[in-house]
Amino acid sequence: MGKVKREKILEILDGYDKENITIATLGSHTSLHILKGAKEEGFRTAVVCEKGREIPYQRFHVADEFIMVDKFSDIVNEDVQQKLRDLNSIVVPHGSFVAYAGLDNVEDKFNVPMFGNRDILRWEAERDLERKLITESGIRMPKKYENPDDIDRAVMVKFPGARGGRGYFVASTTEEYNSKIENMLERKWITPDDVEKAHIEEYVSGCNYCIHYFYSVLKDEVEVLGMDSRYESNIDGLCRIPAKDQLEADLNPSYVITGNHPAVIRESLLPQVFENGDNLVETARKLVKPGMNGPFCLQGLCTDNLEIVVFEMSARIDGGTNTFMDSSPYSYLLFGEPMSMGRRISREIKNGINQGKLDVLIT
Ligand code: ADP
Repeated sequence: MGKVKREKILEILDGYDKENITIATLGSHTSLHILKGAKEEGFRTAVVCEKGREIPYQRFHVADEFIMVDKFSDIVNEDVQQKLRDLNSIVVPHGSFVAYAGLDNVEDKFNVPMFGNRDILRWEAERDLERKLITESGIRMPKKYENPDDIDRAVMVKFPGARGGRGYFVASTTEEYNSKIENMLERKWITPDDVEKAHIEEYVSGCNYCIHYFYSVLKDEVEVLGMDSRYESNIDGLCRIPAKDQLEADLNPSYVITGNHPAVIRESLLPQVFENGDNLVETARKLVKPGMNGPFCLQGLCTDNLEIVVFEMSARIDGGTNTFMDSSPYSYLLFGEPMSMGRRISREIKNGINQGKLDVLIT
């Protein structure tokens, strides 16, 4: 629990005019459909926008208010927080919001009501906490290797920091690992400190599914709203070269996300999809009280044994929800009307206001 106290947030929320709530977020990541969805649910919208990045929000007409800042991280500045509170804002956190504002700042000095469980954000950011939450839910994760000497099959090596999938590599033996590390050190792509902190896990051969869930606290129900798979550079480009040419080209793979494809999974796998979501919500209830609240995403690989192996989790709206700014096949099944993850968040907030339960949705 950070220094932002729940009592303080509830006091601010208490002072809000509930007939005039603004849904606000940082202009990046999934903000277009968060704001669009908020407008569809009848809210006023505000975007905290870095100077020079305003074009999408102007051209797609999703924001009623622009709070301009020199840099994204200024969202935690006191004057920006005050503007947000003056607008009766509920802030929807997303990946870029957490990255630019900084987790410590979100926990310790962001005194604006936010949608969801603020405390769970750390659980997706720290690999060990993330692993605990996922494995204690009975969901399979790739085996983790503590020591490169133990490598006994294909592994994926990940480095820390905000470099995305840049520099991730695959190795099958300790020797291959050592030679690739040496080469990367020589080229100064990584530092000895990166090597210390390298995360080595089993390479899972399968198809990528990132599954977007919404846990409604009001309904006590886990919804599956959509799925995507990642479009990553340069690995997805490399795969278009015949194997012989790949060897000759001597290119190094990277896994930098550049976009997403919408996906659907075999219908027979849906029981597993729901079981994973339900179990994660149950475990979060015990480990990160009061638990999950709103969107989350399990990023996994489905093997030819038809097992979904989860390598990462988002405990807030995930970027892949941009694949269904209108609807996904699954959100259509549930709602029968255009329903994005952004709109689903605002629908929950609207229901919370109508039921006099907004406080349980806010952190
Ligand atoms: P980031 O933290 O940058 O999002 P990820 O851990 O999500 O990085 O991994 C980036 C990509 O690498 C994934 O989208 C997937 O394609 C691939 N990947 C990650 N972990 C594994 C794994 N254990 N086995 C196979 N591929 C993986």
